[in-house]
Amino acid sequence: MNGKIGLRAFSMLLAVMLVSVVLVPVVSASASNSGGEQMSNRSVSEKALVHFGDLTEMRIVDERAVNVKIPFSIKNYDLVVFDLPKIREYLLHGDQLTVYLEGQPYTMDLQETTIDTEAIAKGIHSFTGSLAGVEDSQVLLTVGNKVLLGRIVIDYTEYFIESTSMQDSKSSSAFLQYVYSSKDIVPEGDTIPIDSHLLSTHAIDEKAYALKKMLEEQADPRATVTVRVLVATDSKWMTDEPDWQDTAAAIIQYCNYDFNTLGVNIVPIYDTSKAQQLSSDPQIINSSLSTFKKYFPESYLNSKSADLGLYLGGYDSIEFEGVGSSGGYDFPSLCRYAWAQMADDPSTYDAVLKDRAVVTMHELGHAFDAAHEYAPNQTETYNRAYQFYEHNRYYQTVMWGCFMKTAWLQFSANDGFYGDANHDNSRRITETKGVVASYC
Ligand SMILES: [Zn+2]
Repeated sequence: MNGKIGLRAFSMLLAVMLVSVVLVPVVSASASNSGGEQMSNRSVSEKALVHFGDLTEMRIVDERAVNVKIPFSIKNYDLVVFDLPKIREYLLHGDQLTVYLEGQPYTMDLQETTIDTEAIAKGIHSFTGSLAGVEDSQVLLTVGNKVLLGRIVIDYTEYFIESTSMQDSKSSSAFLQYVYSSKDIVPEGDTIPIDSHLLSTHAIDEKAYALKKMLEEQADPRATVTVRVLVATDSKWMTDEPDWQDTAAAIIQYCNYDFNTLGVNIVPIYDTSKAQQLSSDPQIINSSLSTFKKYFPESYLNSKSADLGLYLGGYDSIEFEGVGSSGGYDFPSLCRYAWAQMADDPSTYDAVLKDRAVVTMHELGHAFDAAHEYAPNQTETYNRAYQFYEHNRYYQTVMWGCFMKTAWLQFSANDGFYGDANHDNSRRITETKGVVASYC
């Protein structure tokens, strides 16, 4: 716990103090006071790791107050507050917005993604794109009602814009946010399997398997399908994080980024009508997926025209000691259900957007029959996750069985980089997507 301080902010403060010490003999004593104020304004507003010029203010807050909200694995971060209305205006008008990463300015080339119409109706807008003129760059931004969330990637370094879900004490409406990069992460806790997905469930129901296989063969893998996903949560997450809706929209956006390339549009239907019931059920912690199904049976999914049900759970669940679960494509009673843990976990999994998106995408992947890297008894021998080596470290595609901080929001694919002919979860998803889209 002691090591967890905003070192960057601290060292900046030190630098500012040193400058003031040098300056004092030069200027008059009476000027040193006003000089101090000016320095704190100037220095804290311009040098966050990730910022948007004068649309960002830096904050230095009592560590104890924010400690509970920022995972211990993030060794360096900057606390910031954004001028959300202005940033929203820029983005919605299609005006160019400059982002500064480690002091370097970049122009973002962004387009709004319009798949999540419910979020847009609530005033939450998501954008994808790249940094102008920067190869291998990627930008995902969600401008919500309370916070700005984002992930900017340059050549496998990830920059994150996150929320503490706490109000900023200096302004009435803004939320306190933090920014950090993947270089600032030192995983803490044990590495755990994400879930205990059944190795192969083909044998469980041969008849259902044969029917699905037939439907797969009839489907066109090049077609684009819409898979409507009922996204439910509980009172716990809604209470813990008043900006949960912004986060949920960002998670769905992250999933869509790769699913879209496979011809799958994930269209969420947000449902909080049973949040209290989920939270009141004592089974929600040790049996998250089946308890979710209890309140959202197939008949309920059908009534909402939802193919799948996804539970974003606010509890540190002890189901299989994992952080997610799904029935899997071939398991008839649960094939339409998935659960991802939003709460922090004693393992390396943290309650940050990236980790949550990895597990959510992983569980949705199982609904399309995407399998782990180790999948004995698989009929589809190509259906495996992949690990690749880049910039002196290993990265894993999203179906990797263990939760890794280096997991990449990408399904394995036969492209010679994210996979090969024997590691191609993407192929499996294009085969099954027509079946999943026809659940309702
Ligand atoms: Zn899994």
